[in-house]
Amino acid sequence: KADIAMYRAKEGGRDGFRFFGVEMDESIARRRELDADLRIALETGEGLYVAYQPKLSSRGNRIVGLEALVRWTHPRHGPLAPDAFIPVAEESGLIDQLGEWVLREACRVARKWPGLSVAVNVSPVQFRGTDMALRIHKIVYEAGVSPRQIELEVTEGILVEDDEEVRGAIQHLRAAGFRIALDDFGTGYSSLSYLKKFTVDRIKIDKSFVKRLGQEPEAIAIVQAVIALGHAMALSVTAEGVETSEQERLLQTAGCNELQGFLFAPALLEAELAEWLERPFQPRIADGGAKARSA
Ligand code: C2E
Ligand code: MG
Ligand code: MG
Ligand code: MG
Repeated sequence: KADIAMYRAKEGGRDGFRFFGVEMDESIARRRELDADLRIALETGEGLYVAYQPKLSSRGNRIVGLEALVRWTHPRHGPLAPDAFIPVAEESGLIDQLGEWVLREACRVARKWPGLSVAVNVSPVQFRGTDMALRIHKIVYEAGVSPRQIELEVTEGILVEDDEEVRGAIQHLRAAGFRIALDDFGTGYSSLSYLKKFTVDRIKIDKSFVKRLGQEPEAIAIVQAVIALGHAMALSVTAEGVETSEQERLLQTAGCNELQGFLFAPALLEAELAEWLERPFQPRIADGGAKARSA
């Protein structure tokens, strides 16, 4: 009962109460079901896996790193997008366990390919735990991987909270050698002051801006400005969601450092990745196929 009241308060938005009918009850039931099933999946390891999307240097299109992206095939509902279950795990607190599992998997892959950096997404909720930085450090240390090979992707949201502990955790991680990337840059409360307060290593331009490249003339100006800003602050800049050669060309011209997107490869299973990396020239996987496979 208390749970339901909590959901109501949350889903009802800032000014409180909203009436929920059958649909809302269904959504609560579904969240509970997903959470319980995810708990089991984490215990058994069944249906959960990590896919890896290559990141390329914008000059020469050499592969420089991978982004670890969690995947879950639900026993009854089939493959679910992270957006369908990450928020559920965040709400229940299961995200700590899920995040650590993804990091362990990513470390295993990092050991396999010592020349590639591996990026892992860290939820803002994980930063609420007091010893988050230590736990991350310990997992990577125990896996026998150098923190230098691991990049942690965080969203702008955690910077806005102006939290002493979050700042401390990021500082600790950077001091230990981890690289920090600001994910989905431009979608949150981007502000120069946050960038100044928190030292990060990289910004990742959100795919919504990349998508507009070649569609709206102003998009080029925005992307150029973000790249110039990043470089002025000695940050490396990655563009995500690169789908067309035109976007690639515009981003290269603007001086973007790294490119990631379906134009090059979707998130790949470990076996597919091995195959992809072994080819003398990394061929581009056709857009259509890539979309279908990463869905
Ligand atoms: P993100 O970290 O911004 O990851 C990039 C997303 O863009 C991925 O979606 C990726 O598959 C997709 N993407 C890559 N290239 C293209 C492209 O060319 N076009 C389009 N349209 N999309 C592209 P995915 O895997 O569905 O993940 C969605 C979000 O879920 C991620 O966004 C991230 O915020 C979250 N997520 C994924 N794995 C994890 C995880 O292990 N932990 C946490 N906390 N969050 C995760
Ligand atoms: Mg990311
Ligand atoms: Mg992103
Ligand atoms: Mg995201």
